[in-house]
Amino acid sequence: MAEMLYEGKAKKVFATDNPNEVVIYYKDDATAFNGLKKGTIIDKGIMNNTITTFFFDLLAKNGIPHHQLKKLSDREVLCKKVSIIPLEVIVRNIAAGSLAKKMGIEEGLPLKKPIIEFCYKNDELGDPMVNDDYAEAFGIATDAQVTEIKSMALKINDILKKFLADRKVRLIDFKLEFGVDADGRVILADEITPDTVRLWDAGTNEKLDKDRFRRDLGNVEEAYQEVIRRLTK
Ligand code: 5GP
Repeated sequence: MAEMLYEGKAKKVFATDNPNEVVIYYKDDATAFNGLKKGTIIDKGIMNNTITTFFFDLLAKNGIPHHQLKKLSDREVLCKKVSIIPLEVIVRNIAAGSLAKKMGIEEGLPLKKPIIEFCYKNDELGDPMVNDDYAEAFGIATDAQVTEIKSMALKINDILKKFLADRKVRLIDFKLEFGVDADGRVILADEITPDTVRLWDAGTNEKLDKDRFRRDLGNVEEAYQEVIRRLTK
């Protein structure tokens, strides 16, 4: 049995014989509101492994370096081992979720320009919002890394927004994580799935993401399947 290095809310990370590589295993566990709400989305692990692999392949073709090396099975993917930069990098195109709440507006307002937000990745603190100065002052990331992260996040936004628009899906907002690889390069890590991205049908604004679980809207599994259908059409 390979040694488990880490277990998160949605994934487990296992060591391999190569010190620079790990296996990530996608679980069906679903949590929301910093772990307060817990449940299962049937076969989420399988669907999210498929969706992340699809998006990461698309991004690699468009020049974005990432940690995935090879999908190994339904739930497992071989990845470069990285040191995760403890920032949740959120990109927003349309006001929704915590932004709509904060600004006292209805969800759905298109923003005049994309917003990038940083949250310090710390469950005990509830992932507080921080900025570039915090990142450098607390040694979370260097100035150069923050600049690189922002540039990659905006490029990823452009690539995904266009790709999804062609498939009649609106890219509302999403969360990225970056890591530093063995060569010291900042690369995209973690996942891009309906757990971490808000996707609305372009015609009806129907939610095709984890808000269906967070808000008890029903048809959660169907929404994830619909995302796969649109991506692979
Ligand atoms: P909000 O700040 O509106 O709750 O989230 C903005 C976007 O980032 C959403 O697409 C949401 O899915 C994603 N996001 C923010 N924080 C987290 C987190 O802790 N876990 C996950 N899975 N997604 C997050």
